[in-house]
Amino acid sequence: MLTIEQLSELKEKLLTEKKSTETELEKIAEKRGGEDVRAKFELMDERDEEANADEVEEYASDLAVTEALEKKLKEINSALEKMETGTYGKCENCTGEKIPVERLRAYPAAATCIKCQN
Ligand SMILES: [Zn+2]
Repeated sequence: MLTIEQLSELKEKLLTEKKSTETELEKIAEKRGGEDVRAKFELMDERDEEANADEVEEYASDLAVTEALEKKLKEINSALEKMETGTYGKCENCTGEKIPVERLRAYPAAATCIKCQN
């Protein structure tokens, strides 16, 4: 079981990470003038003969980063939710196996134990 101190330490980490992830997402959105990177990229894909290859590449990379950040944010939010419901720190895969605190410290949003990783 995680102690209250460990939990609050990990919660701090999660909240800090949540904030920086949101900031990263905002930065991309700002750079794109608030347009939907995903929709725009699909549009560009369809008219590839006109599209500038560099621009397409840049959108592709923005899209990849956006998706990675969104995934991370989801994991963080789900970890925070689990803290509320008291299921935080338990592996989602092998139902209930404890995730070592060292792993949580390195990656507070971890949802699986080391065995189930990957
Ligand atoms: Zn597991």
